[in-house]
Amino acid sequence: MNTTTTPPLGTCTLVGAGPGDPELLTLKAVKAIQAATVLLVDDLVNDEVLTWARPGARIVHVGKRGGCRSTPQAFIEKLMVTAVREGEHVVRLKGGDPFIFGRGGEEVEHLRAEGIACQVVNGITAGLAAVSALGVPLTHRDHAHGVVFMTGHAKPGHAAMDWRAVGASAHALGLTLVVYMGVGAADQIAAGLLQAMPADTLVAIIENASRPEQRHATTRLDQLISTLTSSGLGSPAVIVVGDVLRAMASRDFAAAAAELAAPQEKRRLG
Ligand code: SAH
Repeated sequence: MNTTTTPPLGTCTLVGAGPGDPELLTLKAVKAIQAATVLLVDDLVNDEVLTWARPGARIVHVGKRGGCRSTPQAFIEKLMVTAVREGEHVVRLKGGDPFIFGRGGEEVEHLRAEGIACQVVNGITAGLAAVSALGVPLTHRDHAHGVVFMTGHAKPGHAAMDWRAVGASAHALGLTLVVYMGVGAADQIAAGLLQAMPADTLVAIIENASRPEQRHATTRLDQLISTLTSSGLGSPAVIVVGDVLRAMASRDFAAAAAELAAPQEKRRLG
């Protein structure tokens, strides 16, 4: 008997778990979760999606939310490589879409460098779910010709974002800005954008989009900070800036959101 055979190589799939509502998982994501023997789960992932996991699957929470204690990225990548080499079917579950600010790119590169191919299953990104929950489109032929997904949180050691330049482009080209991880840096973001955009540009802050605890506020760019303070809105939240919100200004945002965020119970499968 050959005792030196290498164990069979497992598989690795990066799966987008969507913004929170478990019904926003794709069928492909459900199938990948069902097939997984090891699941490495980020902290913005709703645990309800784990009900699809097979009994006996190893579930490891590796959250790394800004400011909280978390598993270092290098350790997570090492864990993925080791598990695949041990023949496991590894699913890396990430909030939203794995390739939108989720370090999915870094993980795929790392695995590739180790000779491991990684599949990616898209998820619905938070920015998309957040505006849909308000009944607002990200693009609109009359109000926005495109959309920019920005991070409000530059990688440590990297130059801070030039928000004046971002605002100038968005204003000149008619783009909706969707800022992830922006609450902590909202003062810099607002100050920069205000150098290039009108003070009355509409802004929406949406916290916990698509979850039962979703909350939001709408305001003007020059009142973003006071609105954040008075509303107490905080992470996880996206900040949306642009004229697409004006398209909805005549509507009662609160009523629209309440109507769209119908009780989850009703919408939940089975
Ligand atoms: N890959 C994720 C984003 C990861 S970065 C995606 O595609 O959605 C983490 C940031 O995403 C948070 O700081 C917040 O800005 C945003 N975010 C994630 N889930 C959210 C939610 N349910 N509601 C509002 N913002 C959310």
